[in-house]
Amino acid sequence: MRRKIVAGNWKMNTTVAEGIELAKAVVAVKDEAKAGVELILGAPFTHLASVIDAVRGTNIAVAAQNCADHEKGAYTGEISAPMLAGLGVQYVILGHSERRQYYGETSETLNAKMALCYANGMAPIYCIGENLAEREAEKHFDICRKQIEEVVFNLTPEQFSKIIIAYEPVWAIGTGKTATAEQAEEIHAFVRNVLKEKFGEEAAQSTPILYGGSCKPSNAAELFSKIDVDGGLIGGAALKADDFLGIAKAF
Ligand code: PEP
Repeated sequence: MRRKIVAGNWKMNTTVAEGIELAKAVVAVKDEAKAGVELILGAPFTHLASVIDAVRGTNIAVAAQNCADHEKGAYTGEISAPMLAGLGVQYVILGHSERRQYYGETSETLNAKMALCYANGMAPIYCIGENLAEREAEKHFDICRKQIEEVVFNLTPEQFSKIIIAYEPVWAIGTGKTATAEQAEEIHAFVRNVLKEKFGEEAAQSTPILYGGSCKPSNAAELFSKIDVDGGLIGGAALKADDFLGIAKAF
């Protein structure tokens, strides 16, 4: 049985006070989620300490949305992996399409970030996915393979055993346009096969692969009914505890 995971990516939304309120609201409803589903809250850096406090004593985990590609030093404005680990952060979202697109994140910087994430005892939620032009040119398989090969293939088997992968077609993120369950399954199964080439059948079969892109309570059940879809990375719908819960009930 693979892990089932619903992870929220709050992006650059909520003040600290609103974030604490949201985390507490998720704590209040978490027992209504389907049994065994892991919940992760991906909060902004400024919120992490308070959100970790708000979920303390529960099995809800907290993720950062990025980390620096250096361990420490003269990198003004950056937040390092040791700083995050020191707060009790368990996961780091890496390679999100918004970071690739707006902040020039490349496989090279992502390799450095992944290494630091693991070296500090955290696990990555590694995002892959094609944009609209790439989908229309039917390059989505090639893009996902490249994003996996250039980064995930550099992991040791031990590191790989802790990764969570999120397939997020860029054309579906925040657009209200969701991939069909069939489109999601097609890519998830493909990605699992690519992972198998490097890490073997058992490791590939154990890896959680989440879907992200306008996932909401009304479409989550259909997406999660697919054999290779192990949950969701949720943007907009993670900003309301009831919607987030609605997704966590959908398995
Ligand atoms: C995301 O950015 O990870 C995401 C899936 O966003 P949304 O759910 O809003 O499309």
